[in-house]
Amino acid sequence: MSTSSCSFEDRCVSILCCKFCKQVLSSRGMKAVLLADTEIDLFSTDIPPTNAVDFIGRCYFTEICKCKLKDIACLKCGNIVGYHVIVPCCSCLLSCNNGHFWMFHSQAVYDINRLDATGVNFLLWGNLPEIEENTDEDTLDISAEECIR
Ligand SMILES: [Zn+2]
Ligand SMILES: [Zn+2]
Repeated sequence: MSTSSCSFEDRCVSILCCKFCKQVLSSRGMKAVLLADTEIDLFSTDIPPTNAVDFIGRCYFTEICKCKLKDIACLKCGNIVGYHVIVPCCSCLLSCNNGHFWMFHSQAVYDINRLDATGVNFLLWGNLPEIEENTDEDTLDISAEECIR
């Protein structure tokens, strides 16, 4: 069940904050490896930021690929801050996405490099605990293998 051969272990973990109200949206963000649109700067995370954002509006599809998306808004101020890939398309599943299906627009969020336990060094994805936040909902059950045939 290998979905990706890419490695993110040497990349910094970012804390993502809403630009409008400074609310922390995710403590495990990453400068995005883009699923759909390579023109736009994005941040991504692999764990649903359920306490900070909520869905807004209807599902829609990107023009570039077949991913099904839904916008997410900051719970504190209501501004749209990004989107969730509800159903990734095959080409995105096969590309290097590392299970990051929550995207944040760089116009709406800013990032702070997270420090490790020493408080001196930047925390890297390779040193990040697998589970540290609430993961009991919205877990994607998607296998890239369906697309490979
Ligand atoms: Zn796609
Ligand atoms: Zn906000």
